[in-house]
Amino acid sequence: MRAARRVSVLGATGSVGVSTLEVMAAIEAAGGEPFEVEVLTGAGNIGRLAGQARRWRPRLVVTADTSRLQELRDALAGEPIEVAAGADALVEAAVRPADLVMASIVGAAGLRSAWAAAGTGTTLALANKESLVCCGPALRARVDAAGGRLVPVDSEHSAIFQVFPHDRPETVAKVILTASGGPFRSRTRAEMATVTPEQAVAHPNWSMGAKISVDSATMANKGLEMIEAAYLFDLPADRIEVVVHPESIIHSLVEMIDGSTLAQMGPPDMKTPIACALAWPGRAAWDAPKLDLARLGRLTFEAPDVERFPALALARRALEAGGVAPAVFNAANEAAARAFLDRRLAFLNIAAVVDQTLQRVCGAEVEFSAEDACGAALRVDAVARDTAETVITTMAAAA
Ligand code: NAD
Ligand code: MG
Repeated sequence: MRAARRVSVLGATGSVGVSTLEVMAAIEAAGGEPFEVEVLTGAGNIGRLAGQARRWRPRLVVTADTSRLQELRDALAGEPIEVAAGADALVEAAVRPADLVMASIVGAAGLRSAWAAAGTGTTLALANKESLVCCGPALRARVDAAGGRLVPVDSEHSAIFQVFPHDRPETVAKVILTASGGPFRSRTRAEMATVTPEQAVAHPNWSMGAKISVDSATMANKGLEMIEAAYLFDLPADRIEVVVHPESIIHSLVEMIDGSTLAQMGPPDMKTPIACALAWPGRAAWDAPKLDLARLGRLTFEAPDVERFPALALARRALEAGGVAPAVFNAANEAAARAFLDRRLAFLNIAAVVDQTLQRVCGAEVEFSAEDACGAALRVDAVARDTAETVITTMAAAA
């Protein structure tokens, strides 16, 4: 019998986390390698976390929310499973021995645990794009120094990663990220002025967590992904393009210097890139959804409209500015998306908050040493969030 692969899932109760455990079960059901789970983590959804723990029997289960520890203990009473809570417990969980750590916590809250796992030499399957945006070069260097491997889970970056000539990066001219355009692709700015959180999270192709759904609606998600691609594949901003592709079948493309363009395709389902990351550099068979190109008939493309979706241009500006700017972009966007979901901010003001926060914070001098890049990014994150909150409050008062 083959040895089981030991996996930790950080953010197991979220959209990507749930899909990860489902793909693992599907690979096992198809006769593939068995998995063992070292760690599962969640936050508020204790019922789901406990259910996952009973199914997978991890060594350790952590909730980020310390006020829910007793509830988690009660839910797993009698099970031989260690239980813990809080941000430090998350970091300790992330360094438990595992062959693969799926980092699928949402937002900058996932940074410390992803950073910790990166230092262990494990395979880091990274869904948490925000940690790459906040300290991408240092995170990559940390994985390399520890002898580990970084495998992107974000579908666009998985696509590029799968076709990228890793041993000959100089043969790449540029990468082209595809974007669905989100639920408001065809709306005017006047129409977008009054959209509700319910409309923003109703994505036409992808079923995702609330924050990334809002990011897709503003296209800040594609902005974050431009920065993510720059750091993952060592490319400057002017070699990263975005094209809107409403069907979400081509997940991204790599244009070579000789004019050849390579693309990766698949159904718009995160389970495909998750399965890829779980088995990389191998491939695992499972009962995967497949493409039916004849039935699809056609694929369409259009240029992104930065007038209607200014977050794209702001992200490019942050990437070009470098230094702390990408972390500021991320923090301001997270604060603004949260405020929109809480009905404290109008949809169009999300990008306005990011813009103003970038202008106010980016002059700030922050030391960024390689060893402390995570700590520095978190300090920048805190400053930018405070500033964004001030801007949000001012906007709310003026509304
Ligand atoms: P989600 O909101 O569905 O799940 C988030 C997970 O993080 C949950 O397990 C939650 O318990 C945990 N969490 C939330 N706040 C936390 C905190 N403060 N501390 C610790 N844990 C916390 O999010 P998602 O849609 O699964 O996205 C997860 C990550 O994957 C994000 O970075 C997102 O950008 C990225 N991603 C998601 C998709 C998708 O289809 N959902 C696609 C590409 C990339
Ligand atoms: Mg994506």
